[in-house]
Amino acid sequence: MFRDVFLISIDCLRPDYLGAYNLLRRQTPNLDGLARGSALFTQAVSHAPFTTPALASLLTGRYPYQTGVRLLLGQLCDAGVETLAEFARRAGYLTAGFPSTFILNSPTGLGRGFDHYRDVQDGVDTGRGGCWQKGDRLNQALDEFLAGAGRRRVFCWLHYFDLHDYHLDKGLPIEASYPRDLGARIDRDCVGELIGILRRRGRFNEAAFILTADHGEDLFQHGHRGHGHHLYDTVLRVPLIWNLKEPSLARRIDGQVRHVDIMPTLLELWGFPGSGWPAGLDGRSLVPLLRGHEAPQDGEPRPADCSYAEASPGQLFEGDLKSYRAFSGPEQRSLRTGGYKFIAHAGGRRELYDLRDDPLEMADIAGACEELADRFAGTLAEMTAGGDDRFRQIEFSPDEQEKVMSRLRELGYVA
Ligand SMILES: [Zn+2]
Repeated sequence: MFRDVFLISIDCLRPDYLGAYNLLRRQTPNLDGLARGSALFTQAVSHAPFTTPALASLLTGRYPYQTGVRLLLGQLCDAGVETLAEFARRAGYLTAGFPSTFILNSPTGLGRGFDHYRDVQDGVDTGRGGCWQKGDRLNQALDEFLAGAGRRRVFCWLHYFDLHDYHLDKGLPIEASYPRDLGARIDRDCVGELIGILRRRGRFNEAAFILTADHGEDLFQHGHRGHGHHLYDTVLRVPLIWNLKEPSLARRIDGQVRHVDIMPTLLELWGFPGSGWPAGLDGRSLVPLLRGHEAPQDGEPRPADCSYAEASPGQLFEGDLKSYRAFSGPEQRSLRTGGYKFIAHAGGRRELYDLRDDPLEMADIAGACEELADRFAGTLAEMTAGGDDRFRQIEFSPDEQEKVMSRLRELGYVA
């Protein structure tokens, strides 16, 4: 079994571009190597198509309406929400977070529970005006942290952002620049280098790896490039690989699982009794699935079997920043089961897709299956009742606000 735990999220990473998921792909030997001997989930989903709310849910086991983080920037993770890192510390780990982009800096509250949390700093980091930190700097910071950790067990979260800028190379079409950057910048420069560091420090063979993405990416499916515009599977489906250094747990698991399941799974693996878990977690432990049990997959919209997601494309930022709105469109909320995706738009429009027959979500059956759409709508209303009360804005000073705006311009989120 494992000693250290490395939770690795890669911005914009689609599962179908990894060799571990798609034998036609050959760009990711290091990631595929980590996937060997692992549990590989083929239907894992995120809870938002934006970085910040997606990772807030991953790090707390709660949906955005519970964390209070539903926008890209400017919201505070509810102070009453206990984090995965807090439990890792209680389990005896020295904890470190490497968020790599300023939108995840500690004012979000996402650093709670990390003994070390490496905010992206002005003038220190690289990548489009200091917006984000390249993987080699992230790995260097990790190496320094491990040097100071001695022989203590560590829990580390690393978020690699390097794939986010693939579209800036004007010399290549998007369809070619995405896999090229995935292979060179992520697999070789970030993950390959990380493996090298852990081997040099004698930590690789006893390390558990949990690999995922914060969200996926549209490569012109549904008329878009990027993420944040909608809630289709191109942006919600993510890779999820658990390498627990335990050969008996290696299997391919096709039932739907969620980012919110990651925290309860680790709580169980770390030996916390259920009575000690935070009340109201949205996820549940994946340990039974890791051990070969089947998940219910009848597609019925029971709250415990659904995956919730939301997007607020009309308002990425709130408060003083709300005049800067990058994407248009109404707010959307979705529920996904193993069989169906239901999407409710503000204003009343509804969509329903049969994911077994129509995984690309091309044929909307909400009109033809009105009774089923009604049941999804009822479950959605039941799950989210009262959730809007939790959102808390971070107050920016005028100086901070100007700095934030210039960085968002660099990232391409505002004109
Ligand atoms: Zn992201």
